[in-house]
Amino acid sequence: GIENLSDLEKLAVLGRGNGGTVYKVRHKLTSCIFALKVLRFYHNTTNIRRQALREAEILKRVDSPYIVRCYAVFDREDDLCFAMEHMERGSLHDVLFVGKILPEDVISGLAWCVLHGLQYLHKMQIVHGDIKPSNLLINCKGDVKIADFGVSRIVVGKHEACDAYMGTCAYMSPERFDPERWDGDNDDGFAGDVWSLGVVVLECLVGHYPLIGVGEKPDWAALVCAICFGERLEMPENASPEFRSFVIRCLEKDWSKRGTVDELIDHPFVNRTCCGSHQPFLDLVLHR
Ligand code: ATP
Ligand code: MG
Repeated sequence: GIENLSDLEKLAVLGRGNGGTVYKVRHKLTSCIFALKVLRFYHNTTNIRRQALREAEILKRVDSPYIVRCYAVFDREDDLCFAMEHMERGSLHDVLFVGKILPEDVISGLAWCVLHGLQYLHKMQIVHGDIKPSNLLINCKGDVKIADFGVSRIVVGKHEACDAYMGTCAYMSPERFDPERWDGDNDDGFAGDVWSLGVVVLECLVGHYPLIGVGEKPDWAALVCAICFGERLEMPENASPEFRSFVIRCLEKDWSKRGTVDELIDHPFVNRTCCGSHQPFLDLVLHR
């Protein structure tokens, strides 16, 4: 195991997010490579700190082939560091950013992996809460894993008000913008992860963020409007019937009618390439 942060040598910056920086690091004693996420407490509010510590607690308990492994957490004065499994091929965001439209079989395998990761999390009563391309990472074998529990939370109670953060709302479900969400008979957040997966899956085939038109200025109001009230789903003409049906089940606006993880894991779209291998990003796609 990694005993001390000083055992890790920084090699490069892998990426930057809202809360911090991710480095490629080498464990000096074993020469093993890890990714180190450093969350800085710039504003050092108790809320941010509490949220980060919650992230750490969750991560320590998570052990699934579909979730990026976290090996150690270091809670320091000004920052919180996570030593994670290094995912050599970076994120789905990087793949899509270079303008790639993925073949349906690849998207199918990706959805299979994400659904299995979500099934694992949901069984542990964990809502991920931030499924989006930059949080789906790919390793050198082509495995896809869910990363980053920055805004995830353990479902302790329906009324726990923890939506204060803005984050990236593009992948958030309609019910998360509903001011009455915390009143009465409301959702528990699990359906929101399915919605986010639906947006990601559609984006992979469309080639750009799918809920607003290309070139449209993605201001906050337009985005929320498209998510909550947008009627038309831009479905690519070449999309197969299974693809369409899968996306429609994920992007059902009413969370109570939306497909659940347990339902969608058996969906024909997800199981079409089921031949023992679910490594969506084989060299075929990555080396092109
Ligand atoms: P946000 O802060 O809104 O969640 P983000 O997901 O891009 O955005 P980070 O989680 O800090 O922010 O990650 C930044 C980038 O670092 C990712 O986009 C990814 O390319 C890279 N990265 C993160 N974790 C790893 C990892 N375990 N292995 C390899 N690269 C990683
Ligand atoms: Mg992230």
